[in-house]
Amino acid sequence: MYKSDYLNRVLEQTKNTYPEQKEFVQAVEEFLDSMDFLVSKDPKIEGNAILERLIVPERIIQFRVPWVDDNNKIRVNTGYRVQFNSAIGPYKGGIRFDKSVNLSILKFLAFEQTFKNSLTGLPMGGAKGGSDFDPRGKSDKEVMRFCQSFMAELYRHIGPHTDIPAGDLGVGAREIGYMFGYYKKLKNEWSGVFTGKGLSYGGSLYRPEATGFGLLYFTEEMLKTYFKSDIKGKRVLISGSGKVGSMAALKAKELGAIIVGMSDINGCVVDPNGLEVEEILNLAKAKGEFVNEYIKKYPDVKYSKVARDLWKTPCDIALPCATQGEINLDNAKELKEGGCYLLVEGANMPCDLEAIRFFNENDIIFSSGKASNAGGVAVSGLEMAQNATFSSWSKEEVDEKLRKIMKNIFNECYQTACQYGQPKNLALGANIAGFLKVYEAMLAQGIV
Ligand code: GLU
Repeated sequence: MYKSDYLNRVLEQTKNTYPEQKEFVQAVEEFLDSMDFLVSKDPKIEGNAILERLIVPERIIQFRVPWVDDNNKIRVNTGYRVQFNSAIGPYKGGIRFDKSVNLSILKFLAFEQTFKNSLTGLPMGGAKGGSDFDPRGKSDKEVMRFCQSFMAELYRHIGPHTDIPAGDLGVGAREIGYMFGYYKKLKNEWSGVFTGKGLSYGGSLYRPEATGFGLLYFTEEMLKTYFKSDIKGKRVLISGSGKVGSMAALKAKELGAIIVGMSDINGCVVDPNGLEVEEILNLAKAKGEFVNEYIKKYPDVKYSKVARDLWKTPCDIALPCATQGEINLDNAKELKEGGCYLLVEGANMPCDLEAIRFFNENDIIFSSGKASNAGGVAVSGLEMAQNATFSSWSKEEVDEKLRKIMKNIFNECYQTACQYGQPKNLALGANIAGFLKVYEAMLAQGIV
């Protein structure tokens, strides 16, 4: 129950209207948790039905994606694009190809993207898209045919000033290349309509590294501000074998952290003296997973076939970089028992609501992904800027800008949290700071 009747009404309405969309309802509730004070102080929010408008996407596109597999069998998937909010800039957000994709997941991702993009300080609205297509185990030709069919519908809804997709789970350079190529053919137009493109056709240096590296820059700011310390010698857990987890591990190692545990979909490996990170990165890059191979190569390593067991490992810092819902209340308690005092989300919503509330009540400083994983979309914004000005920046230039953006995001979240009397509640700071810019733009633009 919130103090504000307005918030209680909005939450009730969300739960009643979308009872089956549990991820979306969680994302809205996590956001509303931060709004109590603001809403009671500023009657214009209710007066202009800002929250009611904010939780309904501006547009949802849902479509059939038929394609032919290598055995000449016709397959059909569902494609989506959720264009959530364009108050501060064109829709922007990734595309996810994964069996688990449904409207609830894409709506939660697009909702959070709106605030994440706002926090970067760049003019980007929020969107997300994808399909329940699983690229794993498919041939290149099958992936290409799928991407082309997906784009045969999506191309009419996107554009460099309308909506600029990028990658996400299951969508990397290969998929973006196929989708970009087909868009260009259909529109007869070369434009920066995608980010995360290959370097030879308008991509930005450091885009693949950006989310993971940005996460570590953010973590360093947290350590500096709250503990007057840095990551050197700290014990770190990282989940996920995708780009975010891998690049986070690479940067953490470079900064002197000890990676004591990592996980992928098959389980986790743990070594209190530090894992062989380079070996893990090579395996993850080649196969998209590493645990099964790593335990063959290092038979003495401690491991579990349950990925969640990672959180039982004693650590200082936990960086969940796999996917939503990977840390529940039990895992949160295990982390506390193991001495963890910093939880920095690299994935989108990896912690459920009970876990987040537990962290806040038990002195584990928590940062939500919408702040700490914003480095990826921030460098997407830099890629858009490079495309628009026909330029390409060096690694050093992009890295410097990324560091600055992550530092600014941290400072904005921290200062906002301080201003609202809860200096350790970075999630509150992120929600309020991300919201305020979108709110101001919505107010200025009238009832649209
Ligand atoms: N999918 C990434 C995210 O969750 C990146 C989106 C983008 O670059 O547009 O932020």
